[in-house]
This record gives sequence, C-alpha cells and structure tokens, in this order.
Amino acid sequence: MSGSLADFIAGLPKAELHVHHVGSASPSMVSELAARHPGPVPTDVDRLRDFFAFRDFDHFIEVYLAVVDLIRSAEDVRFLTYEVGRALATEEGVRYAELTCTPHTSVLRGIPIEAYTEAIEDARAAVERDHGLVMRWIYDIPGELGVPAADATLTYALEHRPDGLVAFGLGGPEVGVPRPQFAPHFTAARDAGLRCVPHAGETTGPETVWDALHHLHADRIGHGTSAAQDPALLAHLAEHRIPLEVCPSSNVATRAVASLAEHPLAAFRDAGVLVTVNSDDPPMFGTTLRREYEIAADLLGLDEQGVADLARDAVRASYAPEEVRTRVLAEIDEYAGA
Ligand SMILES: [Zn+2]
Repeated sequence: MSGSLADFIAGLPKAELHVHHVGSASPSMVSELAARHPGPVPTDVDRLRDFFAFRDFDHFIEVYLAVVDLIRSAEDVRFLTYEVGRALATEEGVRYAELTCTPHTSVLRGIPIEAYTEAIEDARAAVERDHGLVMRWIYDIPGELGVPAADATLTYALEHRPDGLVAFGLGGPEVGVPRPQFAPHFTAARDAGLRCVPHAGETTGPETVWDALHHLHADRIGHGTSAAQDPALLAHLAEHRIPLEVCPSSNVATRAVASLAEHPLAAFRDAGVLVTVNSDDPPMFGTTLRREYEIAADLLGLDEQGVADLARDAVRASYAPEEVRTRVLAEIDEYAGA
C-alpha cells in the first residue's frame, strides 16, 4: 500500500453500510460511559485500549457485552449514536451511513422503546446538522434470542418506526439459529416498505445464504463469506444484483476466513457480484473503514480509480434518499477527478 493511495482513501467520500451501533463504541466513548456508570469497566483510555485489543472471539463478546451494559439510559443511547456518527464523518470520510441498531437489547435493559427511538433520531438530526453525515437505521433481530426477540424488533420497527429506518436485519450467531423461522417477520417488514438485510454465510455455509434469499427475500447480504464455495450462488447474486456487505478484518477476527490472503473478496468480484466494503465492529476488531478500503485495495489490486469505484458501489447499494445518492456520487467524481 503506497502512502499516496492510503491518503486518497482517507479523503475519499464514502458510504458505510454494515456497522453496528454498540460495536462502534471507541475506547474514548466507552471511557465517558464508564465514568457515568462506575463499575468494572476502566475509565482510563489507555487501559481501555488494552481491554479492547482483540484477542479472540470470546474476548470480543466480553468487550461487546461490557459496552452493552454501560448503555443504561436514553441519554447514553443519544451520546453513543452522536459520537459514532461524528467519528464516521470526521475520521473516516463517511457521507452516508446505515447504522445497524439492536433496540431489543436496550429495551431489555430498561430503556423504553419510545425513549430509545427519540434518542437515536435526535442524534441523527444533530450529526447531520453538525457534520453533514446522513444516517439511516437498520433494526436487527438479535438472532440468539429467537422468535420473541424478532416479534419485539418487528413491533419497534412498525409501531415505533423512526423516520430514519430503512431496513430490517438479523444478526447474532448463525449456528443453531435457522433463518427460515424469521420469514414472517421479514415479510411484514417488507410489506411496510423496509428492505431486508440479514447477516448470512458468515460462520455457516452457503445454504444459509440461500435461506436468506429464499425465506427472508434478502435485498443485501451481511457478509455472505461462504457464498464463495458455491458457484451457482455467486451466479445468482450476480444476476440479481444482490450486494454483499463485506467486512474483511471482521471475517479474519471471527475466523470466518483463516487470513486476509484467503479472503474471497476477489472471487466475489471476479464472479460479477456487487461488493461493498464495510467495518462491522471497528474498534473491537482493531480496524477502521479506511483500513478496510486499504485491505480491499490490496486484495483486489486497485488503484485510485478502482477504489473510487468501490466507494461508488457502496452508494449504489445503499438505501440513501435519491438526492443523497446523487450528491455523494458527484462528490466522489469530483474527488477522483473523473
Ligand atoms: Zn455485522
């Protein structure tokens, strides 16, 4: 990676389509939350950096849950949402972001859905006003909590629908959480005008991606890593222009792939699949969106124009309002000197 390509990536206007709300909390944000709620999580940012340093998947879950436990009030939700948006805009060059939120975990910890909705919407307006970042929401089902969590998440999406909600998702573990059980929820979300963006094929085989397509009518696939094992599936994704939200560092951290060198990103591109590059839970996986673009540039052998095309594909695969798509694509053109 030449320094100049890294600089180009840093300044490139981007869209981020697969990044989790709580999973985006940085050590400095967690320090503030830990100061509000004294307990086992350190407030010292250097100690927090050590705590965050990715060791293995179990440790990642430990960090994630520790952060979840620090989000106890609507004001905490507002703070985190605003800070995540601010960081995307000011540090990563993001102009448009779809943030995956899991409202059910906050409601389970005692935050009423009405207060949660108001907090994220207030933060969304403030981030757009202060930093020019347009944010939208994806509400995802924490799959490990099963159908009751899906019922609740659907209720939040339909009966307490925030203005910024564009899509309905499904996260959590895939093993032992069959996708078809959530078909009625995705049908109801789709009928209400939401797009369907489940995680699939991250830690299980291509059959989970097929399930997401056939049973959940996925418009985009979160990860889809194992699709690389199934040429018919790749052909289907390419033919129907169903984008994959690829998160390379996350896939290595969770051992979905053994190493970056073995990541199937190039295989997706060579099969004609529309790929987008995203960061998933960046501070917890020791990465940033810029870093993921650098990795993609290495894996795909991209120059500046190739990297700009990758950014354009993310805008095209997004559910941004038409005027935002047009504006960000024009910004990319201008930046890339097209
Ligand atoms: Zn994810």
